[in-house]
Amino acid sequence: KRKREEEELEALEKAAQEFDASNLTNFSDLPISKATATGLDKSHFKVLTDIQRKAIPLALKGRDILGAAKTGSGKTLAFLIPVLEILHRRKWTQDDGLGALIISPTRELAIQIFEVLRKIGQRHSFSAGLVIGGKNLQDERERLGRMNILVCTPGRMKQHLEQNPDLDTYGLQLLVLDEADRILDMGFKDAIDAIVQGIPKDRQTLLFSATQTKNVNDLARLSLKNPEYVSVHESA
Ligand code: ADP
Ligand code: MG
Repeated sequence: KRKREEEELEALEKAAQEFDASNLTNFSDLPISKATATGLDKSHFKVLTDIQRKAIPLALKGRDILGAAKTGSGKTLAFLIPVLEILHRRKWTQDDGLGALIISPTRELAIQIFEVLRKIGQRHSFSAGLVIGGKNLQDERERLGRMNILVCTPGRMKQHLEQNPDLDTYGLQLLVLDEADRILDMGFKDAIDAIVQGIPKDRQTLLFSATQTKNVNDLARLSLKNPEYVSVHESA
């Protein structure tokens, strides 16, 4: 059974590397696990939006992404699907600790991301948590160590990384910065710098924003490796 699983994951990786996105329309066309495909189906997602069509195949190949698309264009799935798939392909389990860190500017947005993650990730067995403050720091800290995927706000995450030297980010595979423009507008540049300094350099980074400002590009320069620039413009 082990061998079979191993072969399936290798086939999935190969399919993602060789995937030709030119005729991509439906989520069922994607080279993704049955678990994610079922989660998407059960959440009634069928056809990819433009930003999803451009970003997901590249992220599944392991590329860093700098993505820009207006609010409401579907950026959440553009990073959540790759997060689930990359960890799945690397056979991430509870014992492997933190595999993906998703940073969002506000509690409300973090909660929304977490809800979508719960829905599309329902057939996976990853542990996932919210780190958004408003709860006892110690309680939050204890749960943190057992999480595979964290959705957090910048200030609270920085606080944990500073006050908890045992917090193990050693194996982190993916960093997601969502709404990077808003994160910067809200004055979280220092918190992001501190977080990025405390996590492995050898990771995949997906950075999304509604607008492409100079500040976002500066942040991208510091956090991304040879990124693919993906943007969706409104047609006239
Ligand atoms: P953004 O982060 O770009 O503002 P969201 O990811 O929050 O956008 O998505 C906006 C809305 O569109 C949500 O209600 C979401 O459920 C819906 N949505 C996202 N992707 C799709 C899709 N492929 N098909 C149908 N609805 C989608
Ligand atoms: Mg969003």
